[in-house]
Amino acid sequence: MVLNVNEFRYINPAQRILLGPGPSEVPPRVLQSMAAPCVGHLDPYFLATMDETQHLLRFLFQTENALTISVPGTGTAGMEACLVNMLEPGDEAVICVHGAFGARMCEMVERIGGKLIRVDQQWGKSTDPEAVRKAVKGRGPKLLAVVHGETSTGVLQPLQDLSAIAREAGALFMVDMVTSLGGMDIALDREGIDVAYSGTQKCISCPPGLAPISFNDKAMKVLRGRKTPVLSWYLDMSLVENYWGPARKYHHTAPINMVYALRESLRIIADEGLEPRFARHKLNHRALVAGVEAMGLKMLVPEAERLPTLNAITIPEGVDDLKVRKALLEEFGIEIGGGLGALAGKIWRVGLMGHSSTKRNVFIFLAAMQSILKAEGAKIKNGAIEAADAVYKKVS
Ligand SMILES: *Cc1c(COP(=O)(O)O)cnc(C)c1O
Repeated sequence: MVLNVNEFRYINPAQRILLGPGPSEVPPRVLQSMAAPCVGHLDPYFLATMDETQHLLRFLFQTENALTISVPGTGTAGMEACLVNMLEPGDEAVICVHGAFGARMCEMVERIGGKLIRVDQQWGKSTDPEAVRKAVKGRGPKLLAVVHGETSTGVLQPLQDLSAIAREAGALFMVDMVTSLGGMDIALDREGIDVAYSGTQKCISCPPGLAPISFNDKAMKVLRGRKTPVLSWYLDMSLVENYWGPARKYHHTAPINMVYALRESLRIIADEGLEPRFARHKLNHRALVAGVEAMGLKMLVPEAERLPTLNAITIPEGVDDLKVRKALLEEFGIEIGGGLGALAGKIWRVGLMGHSSTKRNVFIFLAAMQSILKAEGAKIKNGAIEAADAVYKKVS
């Protein structure tokens, strides 16, 4: 069979402004690092790179946990790695569901054969600790899991109460940090988080492909005390730890150039500093909200529960969701997200994550949105840029 290679054009994507629920914009330095020579996965250079990556990941997770590594795969692989290592068939797991990613955890628990105790909250609100307390009462769950930043709704989940409930129940506290790690101050050791995972393409601003995870001593004890083998051989951390640890025992071939990219992203984060980075995310979020509200649009989530890295904006009555998003992409090169599940067609999801969280992007988005919505005949007020500007002026 002959294949005419000219039918396939070379890769040449447009430069987008990525303001969706991920991926976020990737700094050129990170992309350049991926073009470095691919060495062997046991090459001394790469082994040193792995050690440095672990070091940088501990800094970002704000933890001393020995098992702090990146798993090949996206955020969902991180979710699966945590659940499959911590749970055995028959184990009780309390899963807090206030959006699409909590629901995904439930599906995984059921596939593992765990006993699912599901605590549902209306999408657009955070999980009520009282409901969790009730669900846990009289039971001995092995694990209590929650999504910190629900990217499907733009809700930020307070962790303090849930962490205390897990501790009192003797359960492991597991947190999805996919949309918060690198964008918000969340320290594993301080918050009493036993198991956590994230993804590279949200607030870390690295391409998708790796899932940072961290297990503390309590979690490692659970892993070592298992009666049955971990259901996934590939994600079995009792095997993987011997590859990332001093034994350097071959388990799989690390995605070398993805690890280069992650290491470079983490270096950029360390260079900026955690506190300035978190403050930047908060400030750009506040400016965006001020602009959106000045236009006369409404945020889905009440102010106290808003996730600074993902903004859920209610679509005004009579406005065509798809038409607006298409115009944003075609006229301005801006990507934003639509709603998921019950929120499809009801909200726009505007991410301000990592490298995408800038004053420049906030202004471009507000100006573009105002122009498109006016062209659509929506009743939009002027003054979005001025309102956003006022937020920046107040701090400087
Ligand atoms: C994106 C996301 C995931 C899933 O990550 P993928 O990289 O898409 O596999 C899980 N949880 C949250 C909160 C997310 O935002």
